[in-house]
Amino acid sequence: MGTTDPTLPEVPASERARQDLHVMALQGALAGFFVAGELLGWFGDHSGASRAAVAWVAVYHLARVGYVVRWRAALRPVRWVEASIPFLDISCVTAAWVVLNEPASPFWAVYLYALVAYARRMQGGEYARTAVFILANIVVAEGVVLWRRGESPVNIDVVTMVVIGATMASLAHKVGADWREAQRQARALAETDALTGLPNRRHFLAQLEGREGEQFGYAILMMDIDDFKRLNDEHGHLHGDAVLERVARVLRANVREGDLLARYGGEEFVVAMPGANLEEALRAAERLRRAVERDTPSSISVGCAVRLPGEQLDDVLRRADHMLLLAKRSGKNVVRWEVQKRSA
Ligand code: GH3
Ligand code: MG
Ligand code: MG
Repeated sequence: MGTTDPTLPEVPASERARQDLHVMALQGALAGFFVAGELLGWFGDHSGASRAAVAWVAVYHLARVGYVVRWRAALRPVRWVEASIPFLDISCVTAAWVVLNEPASPFWAVYLYALVAYARRMQGGEYARTAVFILANIVVAEGVVLWRRGESPVNIDVVTMVVIGATMASLAHKVGADWREAQRQARALAETDALTGLPNRRHFLAQLEGREGEQFGYAILMMDIDDFKRLNDEHGHLHGDAVLERVARVLRANVREGDLLARYGGEEFVVAMPGANLEEALRAAERLRRAVERDTPSSISVGCAVRLPGEQLDDVLRRADHMLLLAKRSGKNVVRWEVQKRSA
């Protein structure tokens, strides 16, 4: 839990599948255009190089569709394949350039687009390697076309294209870094409670709901500060805020690594403990209750619930909340749990 990649926005699986389909449809259509063009003689060149290039575009796209359907759609992306895709995509652009056999190829625009697009999802060495590969492809594509026309494979146009490409890569890298930083900040703001710096309720629920389908066991501790209204009334809201921050700090210092602590509401906090059974949850709850009593001017009541097999998050939260209510009714500054579930 809590181990999302801070540099990337989370894309839901359904959205990713839709993007895959979109990309495959566009690239498939483009590949089909080249295969049809080669078969129907649109490009006016049937050299071996041209045929080999079209064959590569066709084979690669068929394999790519197979991969997307078989692995990506099943949400089991293969790491080395994913890492190879940008390079293979670029090699297809080069193949298309060779087929068109034009020194001033319109595929120049696709390389520039790739330099910009990859800058959004790659950084540092990974982006540098990809950008160098793209620039090298420009040189190779243009070199092959010029060589087939009997011209020198390097001329001022090639040099200019590489210089423009390198400038574009450097600018795109900066824009990409700014974009990722803005994404990171926006996400941090959306997920964090401003007063305590803890994850907010939305983030807490999103983290657990993301794993709803799994047989994933956890305990929930629902906590509420005791007699907080009186504290506010007697000492003012600013003092109340300071106490809230203090309680949050103490709770944070006393949860296990891997537990997810959040500010659930006004002066309510919640902890999800992955893999914890009732005994462990009660031990943690008692530790938190005692720490707040000892290190802050207030106290908390705690309700505990452990997820039953197949149970929905809402139901576990409701049970923990009900236990919290019983803790309040039985005098506050105590921990309560469902006795009958103890063996579950
Ligand atoms: P109980 O022991 O039954 O929980 O009594 P309580 O007085 O704490 O009652 P309750 O939990 O309903 O009170 C919540 C109070 O917390 C009411 C609200 O004014 C105060 N509160 C909620 N959010 C904040 C906040 O951000 N800052 C301050 N200072 N007070 C807050
Ligand atoms: Mg309260
Ligand atoms: Mg409350």
